[in-house]
Parts: sequence; structure tokens; C-alpha cells
Amino acid sequence: DIVFEVKNVKKIYDMGEVKVKALAGINFKIKKGEFVIIMGPSGSGKSTTLHIMGCLDVPTSGEVYIDSIKVSDLDEKNLAKVRRNKIGFVFQQFNLLPRMTALENVELPMIYKGIPAHKRKKRAKELLELVGLGDRIHHRPTQLSGGQMQRVAIARALANNPSYILADEPTGNLDTKSGEEVLKIFKKLNEEGMTVIIVTHDPELENLGNHNIFLRDGLIQKESFV
Ligand code: ADP
Ligand code: ADP
Repeated sequence: DIVFEVKNVKKIYDMGEVKVKALAGINFKIKKGEFVIIMGPSGSGKSTTLHIMGCLDVPTSGEVYIDSIKVSDLDEKNLAKVRRNKIGFVFQQFNLLPRMTALENVELPMIYKGIPAHKRKKRAKELLELVGLGDRIHHRPTQLSGGQMQRVAIARALANNPSYILADEPTGNLDTKSGEEVLKIFKKLNEEGMTVIIVTHDPELENLGNHNIFLRDGLIQKESFV
């Protein structure tokens, strides 16, 4: 079953006098359970592609379907709804709230969804255990290493039981060892059936997934299945 369909998507960032063509018409489909790696040099359009797939942004033209829902022309309110129900997003910069503990950071998406306190604390704790941070739940981001912060961010992304995990350069700010630990978590999630989509400029990650998309200058240069 196809879970994402990207059809002739173009994205032009319009900053008045300056217009940047980030995507020049890309097409691909993603099936349930795939581990997708979107690769390419800096500026090739990877983040833009992921942001559009994750309903954080909309294309200038073209169509995007998630589970057959046409998300490319939804308004912000409905985009947010799809995002909340289906997407777990992991950022390169972790984007944790610095004054909150690991547990509270993971609870946050569940607060927005109205999950009662006892229930969300229990789930947040379980998720932190899943990413190997059961002994760090009351630490704040500044008391954690980069790899630990990213694992908190993964736990947070999983909080509302998303259908899909999207990660933008999740190892970009990590040393090799922490990066490998983070990738192991994505691998495990995928083995349990989760569709995982990772953006990276690191060609070494090619062997991690089973569906590789290579971007260059806003176009798909190559697509391969392992
Ligand atoms: P990558 O993730 O491969 O580095 P991006 O999708 O971030 O590529 O960027 C593609 C192009 O679009 C680049 O030229 C970048 O500078 C530009 N771009 C990305 N985001 C914005 C934005 N919000 N406003 C203007 N230009 C942007
Ligand atoms: P990353 O590759 O981790 O997404 P970037 O530094 O490329 O980090 O982008 C960080 C943010 O800035 C993104 O939200 C992106 O859309 C935006 N951005 C990237 N390039 C530009 C640009 N040329 N002008 C304005 N915003 C940009």
C-alpha cells in the first residue's frame, strides 16, 4: 500500500525580489513499512521535501497525498490535524524545550491532544525507556548529551502514536557513536513496522534503508530500492 505520494511537486520560496526554486518537480511514492533515505548535497531540496511531506509546509504546485488524503491544498488548521494524527517529526537541532525535563518534553504533544496527566506520564516514561533513557527522565536538555537529547526528541515524536516518522538530518549534530545509537533506534522502529523517512547529506547512510531517493538541484537524480 502506498502511504505517501508526491506528484510533480515544485516549491519556490518567494522573498519578494528574490525567488528560490527549491524543488523543480519531483515524483515518488512510499509504501508502508519502507525505510526511506532522502540524500543529496546541501541545498538540493531535502529539507523542503521533508517539510512538505510532514505537513510543515505546502508545495507551490503539484500534489501530495498521505494515506490518500490530499494534503497539498489543506489550510493550516487541517494540516495541523494531519500532522498531529499521523506524523512524528525529528529535527537536526532536537528542538526540545530547555526549561522542561525529558519527561515533560515527551508529554508535551500529549498535553496538546488532551491526554490525562497520569496516562501521559506513564506513556512518556515508557517511551523514554524505549530509547534507553529510563534513568534520565527528570534531566533537562542541558544535562543531557546530544545523542541523549535526540533520543528524547524521538520519544517525543512517538508520543501520539504517529503512523510515520520523519527525521531531518537526525545525526547531523552528533558524534559518530551517538549518531549510530540514534540510527539503531530508527532501524528498530522500522523493523517493528514503522515507516521511517530520513533526510541526510551523509552518503554513508545509503545502506541503512531500503528505498533511496537522491536529490540534486531540486530534482530526483536517482531512486533505488534495496
Ligand atoms: P537541503 O535540505 O537539501 O539542504 P533545502 O530544502 O533546505 O535543501 O533548501 C533548498 C533551497 O531552498 C536552498 O537554496 C535553500 O537556501 C532554499 N530555502 C530553503 N528554505 C528556505 C526558506 N524558508 N526561505 C527561502 N529559501 C529557502
Ligand atoms: P536544516 O538543513 O537542518 O533544515 P537549515 O539551516 O538548512 O537547516 O534550515 C533551517 C531553517 O531555515 C529551515 O526551516 C529552512 O526552511 C530555513 N532556511 C533554509 N535556507 C533558507 C534561506 N535561504 N532563507 C530563509 N530560510 C531558510
